[in-house]
Amino acid sequence: MNNFKPIDQQDICYFQSMVGENFVYYEQEILKNYSKDETPDETLRFLPEAVIKPVSTKEIQKIMQYCYEKNIAVTPRGAGSGLSGGSIPAYGGIVLSFERMNHVLDIDTENLIVVVEPGVITNDINRKLKNYNLFYAGYPMSLETCQIGGNVAENAGGGKAIKYGVTGHYVRGLEFVTASGEVMRFGGKIYKDVSSYDIVHLMVGSEGTLGIITKVFLKVIPLPKERNVLLVPFDDIAQALRLPVVLLKDLGLLPTSLEFMNNQSLDFAYKYCNRSYPYPQANCHILVEIDGDDEEAVFNQSRKIGEKLSDMGAKEVFMADNSVSIEEIWKIRRAIPEAIHLALPLEINEDISLPINKIETLLHGIDKLSQQYHLHSPVYGHIGDGNLHISLAPIEQENWMEIEPTIRKTFYHQVTQLEGVLSGEHGVGLKRKKYLSLFYSPEEILLLRKIKQAFDPKGILNPGKIFPDNDSPPFT
Ligand SMILES: Cc1cc2nc3c(=O)[nH]c(=O)nc-3n(C[C@H](O)[C@H](O)[C@H](O)COP(=O)(O)OP(=O)(O)OC[C@H]3O[C@@H](n4cnc5c(N)ncnc54)[C@H](O)[C@@H]3O)c2cc1C
Repeated sequence: MNNFKPIDQQDICYFQSMVGENFVYYEQEILKNYSKDETPDETLRFLPEAVIKPVSTKEIQKIMQYCYEKNIAVTPRGAGSGLSGGSIPAYGGIVLSFERMNHVLDIDTENLIVVVEPGVITNDINRKLKNYNLFYAGYPMSLETCQIGGNVAENAGGGKAIKYGVTGHYVRGLEFVTASGEVMRFGGKIYKDVSSYDIVHLMVGSEGTLGIITKVFLKVIPLPKERNVLLVPFDDIAQALRLPVVLLKDLGLLPTSLEFMNNQSLDFAYKYCNRSYPYPQANCHILVEIDGDDEEAVFNQSRKIGEKLSDMGAKEVFMADNSVSIEEIWKIRRAIPEAIHLALPLEINEDISLPINKIETLLHGIDKLSQQYHLHSPVYGHIGDGNLHISLAPIEQENWMEIEPTIRKTFYHQVTQLEGVLSGEHGVGLKRKKYLSLFYSPEEILLLRKIKQAFDPKGILNPGKIFPDNDSPPFT
């Protein structure tokens, strides 16, 4: 795996002849910026030997043909907002950055498809679509910074997934360049396609290990005109966790967002935002967003939900019905991850996904772990789709290095027992590859390895990601 060819002056000259001198970087100061992503773990930092910023599929094709022939490691990189180390060049080589491939190529209002280059900042797609009353709904909460290519490669999903689904639900076609430099296109401006294997959705979530995505065909939908947000403190966490079933099954309403925040996660966020906290004594808060086209209908649905929540023991129901107050509430929710990372640098920070009716059992398990090992345990996430972000961090730090593996092992054991998976949004990347074998059997991992081998026989594409370095279990 690690016998890649180091990059020399001749390679640099070749890359310069391909993309132009100004778009090949090898100065240490610049390379440093490409040695990390937003994963806080400082041990996950690796310098590339060069960064290349191509402007077209043709250039990428030529770069890949060259790297394949010379056995040079290639790591594709979006905006570097990833939380699993996916765009960190673990084996050096080149980083391919798509900053210059940032064009919305086609807004096709007849087929309701938008065609974009991989380096478009995700929210720019919606800024452009707004003029047509259209909307791309699969975006994550990092939409202001991340790129659509990175979203596709991670199958990102955000706070609206309960109603609108995740990135993959909108990807109708992809153009990509293979490890050996062939340009492939599967799908396109179509909504249905069962003409062969679903290669489009194999590429979605492949974390840059199967091909370089160069063009994305996205489905778009009508832009909802109205939004209301409810912020609801609860003492009884078990009651709060019943909300997905109560809203969807009992009330027959599909909210846009259904977010859970325990009191510890909100404590950190309110302090970080320097704001006072209306209900610090509540054990958790739920954020519910409703959207639609009709102002009165959206308001009535919100009121109905508010009444139901009061019946279920909510301490209060705050309703925000204008863009300023809605943004105030979301600002606190979005601040949680950064606030936790700053306050708890030693955290175990996980992104598991599990059946929604098992969340309560998992939270009990986390409480037990926290009491036993004296831990902070902020938890927040998308209870409507069973995807939780969980931090476990020491209150006193002395023996953390000794107890951390036991805590991790117990935590993952709980998740597997509850039929959960290793990551719901952020991917495996570098950060979680060691733990893959806790969630898949050796036969399942072998199948994944064979898929990788079929797409990338020399293993030059984003090496060191997803697959464990050796097949022995991570814990003894
Ligand atoms: C504050 C914050 C909030 C976040 N909220 C969410 C959230 O709500 N939901 C969520 O899912 N994630 C979230 N994330 C994580 C992150 O933003 C997403 O994973 C996002 O999809 C990464 O996009 P990126 O452009 O930054 O990609 P990068 O981090 O640069 O790369 C991610 C992966 O994609 C690969 N890649 C990038 N471009 C290409 C390409 N063109 N072809 C092939 N592979 C490519 C890389 O090799 C890497 O494996 C959040 C992160 C932060 C910092």
